[in-house]
Amino acid sequence: MNGLLANVKLKRVADDLWRLVCVPSPTGGERRAALTYARMLAAAGARVELDETIYESPAVIGRLAGKRPGRTFQLAGHIDHIDAPHAPPVRKGNIICGRGAADMKSGLAGILEVIRVLNESSRDFAGQVLVTVYGLHEAPKGTSAPIMNLIRRKITGDAAMVAESTAHAENRVVIMGKGQAIWTITAERHGQTCHEMNAPRDGDALCRFGLKLADQLLQYNRNLQTRKHAFPLLGPESMFIGQIHYGDFYNRLPQKMVLQGTRRWHPVQSFKDIRREMQKLMDGISLPKGVTAHCDWSLTGEPYCIGPDEPVVRAYRRARRTVLGRAGALAGIAVVVDAHRLVSLGHVPTVLQGFDNRSAHADCEYVQIARLRQPCRIMLLTILNYLNTAGEKHRKSYEANQTSRRGYRGS
Ligand SMILES: [Zn+2]
Repeated sequence: MNGLLANVKLKRVADDLWRLVCVPSPTGGERRAALTYARMLAAAGARVELDETIYESPAVIGRLAGKRPGRTFQLAGHIDHIDAPHAPPVRKGNIICGRGAADMKSGLAGILEVIRVLNESSRDFAGQVLVTVYGLHEAPKGTSAPIMNLIRRKITGDAAMVAESTAHAENRVVIMGKGQAIWTITAERHGQTCHEMNAPRDGDALCRFGLKLADQLLQYNRNLQTRKHAFPLLGPESMFIGQIHYGDFYNRLPQKMVLQGTRRWHPVQSFKDIRREMQKLMDGISLPKGVTAHCDWSLTGEPYCIGPDEPVVRAYRRARRTVLGRAGALAGIAVVVDAHRLVSLGHVPTVLQGFDNRSAHADCEYVQIARLRQPCRIMLLTILNYLNTAGEKHRKSYEANQTSRRGYRGS
C-alpha cells in the first residue's frame, strides 16, 4: 500500500494544474477546458465520454475499472471558476497562481494523478472508479444543471468524494451540510411613486409593513439561534437579511420595498417546509390596506447528512489516519457544496477532500504544490479502502447469490 502512495508524483500534479489553469473556464464557458480535461483523463488511463446536454458546459465522464467485480467509487469536481478579473497565470517554484487554481483545478489535477497511479498499478482493485467533472457550478450563473443531469442519468457511484473543501472544514471530516435558499420578499403599495407632498393619507403603510416584517425576521433569527436542536456539528439554523431596498430619492414616496436574504436549515426539514414556515410568518403580519406582499425563492441546496459509520466515511477516516496520523474530527458545513446534490438528490454518500482551496475566490488565487501531496494520497487510499472492503463484501454476496441459485448446499 505504501508503495502505491509513493507513486504520487507532485511534478505531474503541478504540470497538470498548470495546463488546466492556462485554459480559462468561467462559469457557462467551460467547453474548451472540459475537452482539454477529457483528453488528459484519457491519457491518465480512463475510458472517457462526454455528456453534451449543455453544449457550452459539457460534463466529462471517466471510468477506470479494477481487476475484480465490485462497487463504484466516484470522484467529482467542477471545472468552472468565478468570472472575476485575475492577473494572467503564473508558475513560479512551488506556486501556481491563476483564476481557478485553488477553486478547484487543484482538485481536478489531483484526480488525474490518482487515476494515473491506479492505472499504473495494473488496476489491482475491486470495482471501478468513476470520474465526473462538470461546469455551471459557481453562482450566480451556475445552476448546477450538468451535475444534476448526471445524477438524473444515474451516472453516480455507490459512494463519492468531492475534490474540494472549505477553509473551515479543511482538517475535518464533513458528514453533513445545512440546506440553503435565497428568499426575496417584494411588498408593493397601490398607486404610483409621487412627491411626498402628494402622498395619500396612509402613504407610510408600505414602510410600516416592511419594517415590521424585517423586525419579525430578525426576531425569528434570534429564536433560531437559541432553539435547541440535534445538530451540534452544524450549529443553529439562521434567517439572514442581506438587503433592504425602499425608495430612490429623498422626497419621493416609494411604491415598492424589497427585502432579501438567506435561510439555512437542518437536515430534518426540507425546502418545502421552509417555504411553508415563511408563509406562516408573513401571514402573521396584518397587511395594511392597499399593500400586497409575496415571497420568491431560489433553492441553493437541500441539506444532507450521512452517518459516521457509512463505509465511505470509515474508508476516508482510515486513509487520513494512515496519511496524516489522525482521522480528523467530524464536522458539518453551512455553505452548499456538490455533496448536497450527490447525497440529497443522488443518494450517494459523499465526503469532501480539500486540495489547498484556501485562496478560493480571492483576488489572487494560488496553490502551493507541496500541499497537494497529502490530499492525493488520502484520495487514493480512500478509494482503495472503500473498493477493496466493499468490493470484497460485494463479491461474497454475489457468490452467495450464485451458489444459492444453483441450489448448492456445500459440504
Ligand atoms: Zn469550488
